Amino acid sequence: MKSLEAFGGLQREATEWRHYLHENPELDYRLHNTAKFVTEKLASFGINHIETGIAETGIVALIQGEGGDGPTIGLRADMDALPIVEASDKPWSSKIPGRMHACGHDGHTAMLLGAAKHLASTRKFKGSVALIFQPAEEIELPSGGLKMVQEGIMDRFSISQVFGMHNKPGMEIGTFGICDGPIMGSQDDFDIIVKGRGGHAASPHRTVDPVVIAAQIIVGLQSLVSRKIDPMESLVISVTKLKAAEAYNVIPDHVEIAGTVRTLAPALRDFAEREILASAQGIARGFGADVEFKYRRSVPVTFNHTEETNLSVTAAGNLVGAASVDDKVGISMGAEDFAYMLEARPGAMIFLGNGTSPSLHNPAYDFNDEALSYGIGYWVSLVETVLPL
Ligand SMILES: [Zn+2]
Ligand SMILES: [Zn+2]
Repeated sequence: MKSLEAFGGLQREATEWRHYLHENPELDYRLHNTAKFVTEKLASFGINHIETGIAETGIVALIQGEGGDGPTIGLRADMDALPIVEASDKPWSSKIPGRMHACGHDGHTAMLLGAAKHLASTRKFKGSVALIFQPAEEIELPSGGLKMVQEGIMDRFSISQVFGMHNKPGMEIGTFGICDGPIMGSQDDFDIIVKGRGGHAASPHRTVDPVVIAAQIIVGLQSLVSRKIDPMESLVISVTKLKAAEAYNVIPDHVEIAGTVRTLAPALRDFAEREILASAQGIARGFGADVEFKYRRSVPVTFNHTEETNLSVTAAGNLVGAASVDDKVGISMGAEDFAYMLEARPGAMIFLGNGTSPSLHNPAYDFNDEALSYGIGYWVSLVETVLPL
C-alpha cells in the first residue's frame, strides 16, 4: 500500500494553492489568471514540456518517467468556477462577487498540481504522463473538454488512456467510488414554443390560448417516462423554464417551454427527441395550435471502460485499502464533459469522498481540504499502477 504520509507535505502546499484558486475564481474559457498560476507552478516543479493556450486557456504538460519508453496516459483536472454568489463563510471565500468554486474544481486543480510536483521529482514510472488542465467544464456547447479533444490533444500528445476524478459530497473522506460502464448521465436540452393566438384575457373564446396548451404539454411529458420506457432503464425529462405573457389581462400568442433530458443510454436520447416532439405536437394540434421544437444534444454519457475501471480500483485500493473503494458506486445523472475525452480514448472517471458537505453547485459548498492528499495519492498511485517500472 502507498503511504499517505508521503503526501503530507504536499497536502499543506496544495491547501495553499486551493485557497488561492478559491479566492480568485474565473469562469468558462476566461481562466487567464488560473492558467498563469498553474503554468508557473508546473514550471517551478522542473516540468519543461508545457503547452498553453489549448482551447483558449487549457494546458497540457508532459512528465517522462525514469523507466524509459512506454505509453502516455492523460490525467485530467477542470479549472473553472460557477456564476454563484458564495455563502460558505470560509476565510478563503471568493473575492469576486457572483463567482465561486462551487463544484470543487479548485480542489481538482490543486490535486493534479500536487501529483505533478510529486511525479516530477520521483518519476517512478515508464512512459509519460500528460497532465490535462481544462477550461469551461461547466458551460454547454462547446465545453472545454470537447474543445481540447477537437484541438487534437489525444493525437498530439499520443495519449492512449485518460483518467478523471470528481469530488463527491456525502461520500466519506478517504473513500473512492467508481463503476464499470455508465457513471454519469448525458445532457440534452429542448425548447418547445407553443404557437396559439393571443387576445384579451376576458375573451378567451376568441383566442387559441397557448398557456392552457403549454400546461397540458408539460403534464403530457410526465407520462413519457412512466408509460413508454422500460422501468429498468433511466431517463429524466425535466421542464425547467416557462415563459408566457407579462400582463394579467393578456393571453399571449405563444408560450416558451424549455427543459433538459438526462439518460444513461444513447438510444434513449433518440427516443426523447422523437417522443417529446410527437407528444407536444399532438396535444397542441388537438387544440388548434402548433409547436416549434428544438432539441440540442450536449454532453454524452460518461462511460467508464472496463480495463481502466479495474486499474482505477486497484490504484485507489493500493492507497486506501480495498474496503474504502466502492467499485459499484451509484450512478449520477448529472452530466460531466470528461465524457468527450472518454469517447476519444478508453479511460475511467472516479469519485473522491468530500465528506459531509453541502451539495455541488450549492452556494455554501466548499471543497474539503482533507481530501487533497487522497486525490494527490490517487493520481500518483494510478500512474505507478498503469505505467509500472
Ligand atoms: Zn459542476
Ligand atoms: Zn464539477
